[in-house]
Amino acid sequence: MVQELGMAVYVAPGLAGTGVFADRAYGRGEQIIGIDGPVHSGAELDLIGFRPGYPLQIDLDRYMLVEAPFVYCNHSCDPNGGITPDLKLVAVRDIAAGEEICFDYSSTMLEDNAWTMECGCKTARCRGRVEDFDRLPPDDQRYLLDHVGVMPFIVRALAARPANA
Ligand SMILES: [Zn+2]
Repeated sequence: MVQELGMAVYVAPGLAGTGVFADRAYGRGEQIIGIDGPVHSGAELDLIGFRPGYPLQIDLDRYMLVEAPFVYCNHSCDPNGGITPDLKLVAVRDIAAGEEICFDYSSTMLEDNAWTMECGCKTARCRGRVEDFDRLPPDDQRYLLDHVGVMPFIVRALAARPANA
């Protein structure tokens, strides 16, 4: 079943459960949809029962309970989508109409817990596991920084860490 959302994407069975699909072709750098929803601290999410693993991390101890359609966006270790600092889903390479749009969850994850998720994206770059950005091998961090984009709070936090920490 395909659910039309009156946007430039649609929701249908994807890589891992429901996914978000392009309703038309997108060029590299093009914005696809905005990302919105209420923002909570980790402690607030503990009370709600969401953490860890579900909401989009947008800053240290800040999480957005993202709304449809973005909430259905699946992870890929070699994604065609990325998230801008102002929270838009963008094409990080050309995307064909009908292609599932994914982003790399690790590009928005820097927590103190050890939450991980097994990955079945089956891309050539698959790391087998989704985990915090700072736990990724340096080559994978570099790939995300150069080709996909990493949330600014992660870049800032890692730059502020003492060497060898
Ligand atoms: Zn993967």
